[in-house]
Amino acid sequence: MSTVAFIGLGNMGGPMAANLIKAGFTVKVFDLVPEAMQALAEQGALTATSACGAAAGADIVVTMLPAGKHVRSLYVSSDANDDTKKGLIDVVAAGTLLIDCSTIDADSARFVAEHAANKGLEFIDAPVSGGTAGAAAGTLTFICGGSDKAFELAQGVLNAMGGNIFHAGGPGAGQVAKICNNMLLSVLMVATSESLQMGVDHGLDPKVLSDIMKVSSGGNWTLEKYNPCPDVMDSVPSSNGYQGGFMVDLMVKDLGLSQEAALLSNSSTPMGALARSLYVNHAKQGNGKRDFSSIFELFAQSEQIKHKG
Ligand code: NAD
Repeated sequence: MSTVAFIGLGNMGGPMAANLIKAGFTVKVFDLVPEAMQALAEQGALTATSACGAAAGADIVVTMLPAGKHVRSLYVSSDANDDTKKGLIDVVAAGTLLIDCSTIDADSARFVAEHAANKGLEFIDAPVSGGTAGAAAGTLTFICGGSDKAFELAQGVLNAMGGNIFHAGGPGAGQVAKICNNMLLSVLMVATSESLQMGVDHGLDPKVLSDIMKVSSGGNWTLEKYNPCPDVMDSVPSSNGYQGGFMVDLMVKDLGLSQEAALLSNSSTPMGALARSLYVNHAKQGNGKRDFSSIFELFAQSEQIKHKG
């Protein structure tokens, strides 16, 4: 079985690395946070003292980092004349497959892919959908950008962490597809919230209204799987004080990426721009760490204010 270096053991990376161990891979981990490495060591991972130390000698490198700047600086040397500033692509053996699962801008993914290609290495961007629950259950969706060869080579390791694995196109295409999806999701969440609240304001039961809209032309994923109105659905963040799930701060990040992408391609995305603005304000009201379906309260609160008046 291959040796996998896993770098970035946060909310997503930790359980993803654990699933690779369960699947029988030899996993060598690194994170800036020692406790995160310790938790994986207890599950059978080898630990390294640096990212380059984890990657040297691995067959496959997987990274799960916060943003594009982290991915660029980790993979690509910041100073070609200084050995202490080596990037991962300087230390891995020929034939090593590089997989970045972070959600980042497509330009950063293409930047790393180009540097990797210059060294004869295969790199794919493989951002995920499915959240921390999907990471823990090993049911993530991977949305990949890269060559056919890299996509084929990645199947084994991605299958150990997820279910649906898509090839969106060349380098950066995985990131573009991911932010298109999340921009759409944000718009659906806002529109579902305002529609449900308007029904409630007119005295409708949100459960009944949800059942009606689910099978009518307004039906969508947020109504079926992630209802934002409290107590309409069991086991979703809205019925648990909007805890867990997908944080508002992460949605704000993804909507920022989608607007940057829209500028680059001169695409018109008015709904995405509005959704970003609403989510930025929502985060500023202290909701950054809550689930993104808490945007529902924006509309519910305005109703309470109306009654007070
Ligand atoms: P996180 O902040 O919990 O984890 C990031 C980890 O990377 C941290 O442990 C941090 O110490 C580590 N790190 C940062 N720089 C490093 C470096 N140079 N070397 C080694 N380790 C380093 O974030 P997360 O929630 O796990 O998200 C990771 C990525 O996955 C993000 O790009 C995010 O947008 C994406 N994502 C998150 C979710 C989610 O629900 N949390 C869902 C889909 C996608």
